[in-house]
Amino acid sequence: MLNIILMGPPGAGKGTHAVWIERDYKIPHISTGDMFREAMSSGSELGSKIKEIVNRGDLVSDELTCALVKERLSRDDCARGYLLDGFPRTIPQAESWEKIAKDIHREVSLVINISCPDEELVKRISTRRVCPKCGASYNVVSMKPKKEGICDICGTPLIQRKVDNEASLKIRLANYYKSTAPLLSFYKKRGTLHDFDGMAGAEQLKVELNALLASHK
Ligand code: ADP
Ligand code: ZN
Repeated sequence: MLNIILMGPPGAGKGTHAVWIERDYKIPHISTGDMFREAMSSGSELGSKIKEIVNRGDLVSDELTCALVKERLSRDDCARGYLLDGFPRTIPQAESWEKIAKDIHREVSLVINISCPDEELVKRISTRRVCPKCGASYNVVSMKPKKEGICDICGTPLIQRKVDNEASLKIRLANYYKSTAPLLSFYKKRGTLHDFDGMAGAEQLKVELNALLASHK
């Protein structure tokens, strides 16, 4: 069973690798960031509250985040595995997920952490482009799409996220080190953590991740 949590600071490569893992291992890629962006564009009252928080670079409350993830992962398409990206992001989220996952029979089997130094993250984020439709990410310097400005996968024009600037990245990174990095020792203790070097290059990292995933299938 591949019940995977994908971890790493913003820009480490989570989105890039999530695309092929979802396709090749036939497990749904569930990104809390995508879920929140969807809510933000829905125009609902809750959506506009979330928008304020996310656009500041801050974290949505643990309670709301856990409730959303529980609902999404309870669905049938997650019964044979899932790839969770962006969650848990705090110790309280990891603790409540441990309980909820047990209740709904979705216990975590593998935690993949992609690490990457800050200077590189700053570089990558400022040149990142994303597909607003399917969520695929590109880079205008190092991972250009086949056709400039267009998503390879679904043909949608690419955008730069509003929060992909240095000021907001600083807040997101500070939040990452303060709230999310402590999760690494949390999962290390449970024996599920696997560390990867995000500087290795996307192709090399794909080979290494494939080796791990194939052995857990
Ligand atoms: P990044 O590009 O920083 O990796 P994501 O795309 O994963 O960010 O998420 C975008 C934003 O959504 C985050 O900056 C945060 O405000 C919010 N968010 C996503 N996941 C969580 C979570 N598990 N808990 C709280 N807030 C979250
Ligand atoms: Zn696309």
